[in-house]
Formats: sequence, C-alpha cells, structure tokens
Amino acid sequence: MACVFRADGFVVIHEDTPGAESFVPRGAALPVLASAVQQCRGCPLHRKATQAVFGAGRPQPSMVLLGEQPGEQEDREGLPFVGPSGRVLRELLIAADIDVEDVFLTNVVKHVYVESHGRRRVHRRPHGAMVAACRPWLEEELARTKPPVLVCLGAIATRAILGKDVRVTQASGATFSTTIAPVVIATLHPSALLRARTPRALADARSRMLDDLARARSHAARGR
Ligand code: SF4
Repeated sequence: MACVFRADGFVVIHEDTPGAESFVPRGAALPVLASAVQQCRGCPLHRKATQAVFGAGRPQPSMVLLGEQPGEQEDREGLPFVGPSGRVLRELLIAADIDVEDVFLTNVVKHVYVESHGRRRVHRRPHGAMVAACRPWLEEELARTKPPVLVCLGAIATRAILGKDVRVTQASGATFSTTIAPVVIATLHPSALLRARTPRALADARSRMLDDLARARSHAARGR
C-alpha cells in the first residue's frame, strides 16, 4: 500500500493505490515489462487511460530522458513523447547534437492522469502516491538500460529521483550522482517551452534546456 508523508507529519494511506510491485516481473527483459505493464492496477490511473505507456528507445542508451506522464497523444498511441512536448524535445536533442536514436525515453508514471468533466478530459499532475506506486516500473527500466546519464525533465521527475525538496529551477545547471544513475541532470520539461508566454521566456527556457542537454551529452560521451 502506498503512503504519502506530508510536511505536517501525517501519513496518508491510499486504499486504491496498492503499488505496482505485485504486477512487475522483476528482472524481465524490456519487451516483457512493456507487455506486463498493461495489466498493472497499482493505482487508479489505469481506469481512465487508454493504455499504459512504457519507455521506448535504445535498450543500451547513451542516456535516459525521464518525463512526468504520458500526454493525450501518447495515451492514444502507446509511445512516450510523441505529442507536442515530444516534438519539442526531439528538436532540442537535435540542436544539442544528441542522437535521438541513441536515447531511451520514459516517464515517472506510466498511465496518463486525467479526470472527466462532462465530455472534457482534464489532465492532472500525478501526486506522490501515484509516483511511489509506479516506481517499480521505473526501477526496472533503469536496471535494464543502465544509463550512464539520467536526465530528469521537469519537477515531478526531478523530485522522483533527487528527492522531494529539490526544485528543478535550482537543480538545473548542476550534476548529481545517485545510486540509480552515476550522473543525473535535472532540466525543464519540454512543455515549458510550449507554455512560455513571451519570446524572452521561450528563449530563456530553450537556452537552459540546451545547456543542460549539452552537459548530458558530454557526460554520456565520457561514460561510454
Ligand atoms: S500509473 Fe503505474 S502504478 Fe498506476 S496503474 Fe499505471 S502502471 Fe500501475
């Protein structure tokens, strides 16, 4: 059963969030995991999603890029980063001279988090219990791909890897070493570029992401 430890000391237990552990074939190959995740009922997110979206890309990648959750298009197609944010990310990877075919793309949470408001589907950010519930799938992805560099895209991915007190705006520009990957770099989520309200904000976000991706490329080259 997944728990969330709140700042006020209370522990919130989510009865319908038992966690993915009993659904994960530990030690299995990536294609087996990608198939098994479709049966996961570790949290309520599977109920309104079309399908789970497992990671995809090179099995022994130069780096893993970790986002938050599938978007609407990813939910329909079953592949990570194929929607608008994915297009931004691929453009940034090319600009940073990173081979898109040489990376592995995935998300912290494998089912999209949507709520129905009449006929509208409203996207929500996954909360701590959902991230904790889904973690066994991410652990297996990272154990199989063994990335020399893990790039956390956005706040949810950064907190999932570096801890809940780490803010992506502060962590961007730094390099971390963790037990989960020898080099961890945090940067903005590519959706930040889509949300930028001014040309200046867009240029700043793009510049920050390109700097972080250039460091990731440099570490990846050394790690091989
Ligand atoms: S989001 Fe993760 S834990 Fe929740 S049902 Fe989907 S795969 Fe399982």
